[in-house]
Amino acid sequence: MRVRVRPGVPEAAHRVLAEAGFEFDVGALDVAGADALLCLLTDRIDAGFLERARRLRIVANMAVGTDNIDLAAAERIGIPVSNTPDVLTDATADLTFALLLAAARRLAWADRYVRGGGFVGWNPELGIGLDVTGRTLGIVGAGRIGRAVAERARGFRMEVLLHSRSEGPPLDELLVRSDFVSLHVPLTAETRHLIGARELARMKRSAVLVNTARGPIVDEAALVRALRAGEIAAAGLDVFEHEPALSPGLRDLPQVVLAPHIGSATVATRARMAEVAARNIVAALRGEPIPNRVA
Ligand code: NAP
Repeated sequence: MRVRVRPGVPEAAHRVLAEAGFEFDVGALDVAGADALLCLLTDRIDAGFLERARRLRIVANMAVGTDNIDLAAAERIGIPVSNTPDVLTDATADLTFALLLAAARRLAWADRYVRGGGFVGWNPELGIGLDVTGRTLGIVGAGRIGRAVAERARGFRMEVLLHSRSEGPPLDELLVRSDFVSLHVPLTAETRHLIGARELARMKRSAVLVNTARGPIVDEAALVRALRAGEIAAAGLDVFEHEPALSPGLRDLPQVVLAPHIGSATVATRARMAEVAARNIVAALRGEPIPNRVA
């Protein structure tokens, strides 16, 4: 049995595969002769790829999101797909709160200001931001990460509104009531552009939008327009609609804090993600139930 592992997957995965007695090599997204693939969220696993990869007994994504994989095609062709839930929940919720605080309290601007030599003395009008403590946080997507963000919000005595298809207030009501709106839905046909011009217009002018889910959930051109027009106050973004490219105008907005898709980027979390992905492969190749099967 041979496993193709994509470059950048932490060595924790290599160890799991070696201990289970499977050969692996690290290389390109070319799976000729491979029985399993350990891939990354930047790997586009579409129907054409899957058709050519019928020998695969699993595609194990090192991510909880699987929007890079055509799940319907995988099911049709009969190739199981797995993800890495839970192990990245806390790290992603932490980064979400970091962006929320940074956007509210203008931290990225403040850092640039001090480095740029602008700080020549304290004054009472310098760097005025928005309160977080006691404000209302609207969480769109009441799953693992959304709930972990809600837990952190309790420490800030925030009122939390949780919305999903199966629970909570309607999205429109959440948008109208929230001081902070944080997105935690998966990217699907239904959630693409879930937040567009209409939704941004419903938010408070003092509101902050945080996105650590997936870029295309937000209509980024509409977001740039809303921020420019002062329809919302600020944003904290870890993901982008046309990642890694930024929509025109986004980088020029000082009220936006930008991060390069680092939600799960901690040493321990990335090692756990790699391990979980490798364990899914070991189970598939041994003909056992795949722990984190999504298709
Ligand atoms: P999860 O536990 O599956 O939670 C997703 C939630 O979204 C569920 O509560 C689901 O509830 C809700 N939902 C799904 N479709 C919806 C819709 N159309 N409208 C409203 N709510 C909807 O997933 P998770 O583990 O929290 O991860 C969430 C996402 O975070 C992942 O899919 C991934 O894209 C992203 N992520 C990003 C990073 C990063 O590095 N920035 C790291 C980890 C994860 P219902 O089914 O009841 O609607």
